[in-house]
Amino acid sequence: MDSLLHLPVFCCKAVPLPHWVPDSQLQQCSSCGDAFNPFVRRHHCRCCGSIFCDACSSGRVVLPGFGYLSSVRVCDDCRQFELGQLPLLLAGDVWTKVGEPQQRYLRLSPDQSLLVWTPWRLEEGPLRYSTEDSADVARLTCVSEAPEQRELILWIDSERLTFVADDPKQVHLWAAALSRLLAIIRQRHSYEQLFGGIAAGAESPRTLAVRLPLMDQLLEQRANALMDSKQRALIAQEMQKRQGTNTALGNTNSARHSEQLSS
Ligand SMILES: [Zn+2]
Ligand SMILES: [Zn+2]
Repeated sequence: MDSLLHLPVFCCKAVPLPHWVPDSQLQQCSSCGDAFNPFVRRHHCRCCGSIFCDACSSGRVVLPGFGYLSSVRVCDDCRQFELGQLPLLLAGDVWTKVGEPQQRYLRLSPDQSLLVWTPWRLEEGPLRYSTEDSADVARLTCVSEAPEQRELILWIDSERLTFVADDPKQVHLWAAALSRLLAIIRQRHSYEQLFGGIAAGAESPRTLAVRLPLMDQLLEQRANALMDSKQRALIAQEMQKRQGTNTALGNTNSARHSEQLSS
């Protein structure tokens, strides 16, 4: 079992903390299935709360969303999520929402509690954090992809939302990232139900705490930095495309013009 030295000093209200699986519940590593014994010790992942062997939880990351401001142990899946998939979701991307003429900027809120899709406006200042069109991530029930049609399909309760991207790779990356987010959320909720949350989960070292303003600032800053750089890149791309079109038109016009002159 891990030492209790790396406990968070506070936690997020919006994101339920993983309740540590009690040591007695698992006799083998959740990932590779190796049986635990005095030589293969149990280690808890700070992100999902499950138990792993040392080899399957060798990554260390900072988890500001959970109040861990220095690196803590995470399992391989959670490491991949925190370092690759979460930044993708926080930075957001432009999608076409099926049935709507206007493009949408789809992203995860900084505290990971909301999925937000606001109208995408080119050439405007930084995208304002707005919850105009959003859903609680806990209401997300299913994520699927239709790569040939470049569609990302989200079920929020029983409502189906479909977003289309130009790039099938984008659809695939998002579907994988959202599926992982969904799996982590389910894992956290199922532990809460299984062990009755804080009161009955005597083996969980977590305690409820208030969310500090510093925490919100940190999360907001990280998400905004990711979003700003993504948006700047998209605007530059779009402007380049437009300039390209203009130049092509200009060339055609001047070609026509010279034809007229020579005839
Ligand atoms: Zn393992
Ligand atoms: Zn994990």
